[in-house]
Amino acid sequence: MENCIFCKIVRGEIPSPRVLEGDDFIAIRDINPAARTHVLVIPRKHVESVGHLEDGDASLAGTLLLAARDVARQEGVAESGYRVVINTGREGGQTVGHLHVHVMGGQQLHGHGTA
Ligand code: AMP
Ligand code: ZN
Repeated sequence: MENCIFCKIVRGEIPSPRVLEGDDFIAIRDINPAARTHVLVIPRKHVESVGHLEDGDASLAGTLLLAARDVARQEGVAESGYRVVINTGREGGQTVGHLHVHVMGGQQLHGHGTA
């Protein structure tokens, strides 16, 4: 957690304007956007990945999905459609070991991000 980049952003040690925030999450713009709208929903609590969620994290998991919905509404892509992605582990393409939900939209997206 000490050196986790998203924990640092949550703590404000790395400045990153919040698109939205709540008691249990923050939402920031992806530094390397893959779509016109590309926001990351990040739990304040350090959870490494979906695979590290515990049964007691059910509420947090739901909160992240609802936050993705709210980000989409706020970004104006709720009607046009958007993609919600959680990369998990090495072969899932996860590069930051702190759970995060990608919200991408604002343009036509194709495929599923397969190899
Ligand atoms: P993933 O590959 O699913 O782990 O996604 C990690 C995402 O975090 C990538 O899309 C990166 O562009 C993004 N990212 C990495 N560092 C930062 C940062 N400091 N601020 C915003 N986004 C970041
Ligand atoms: Zn972290």
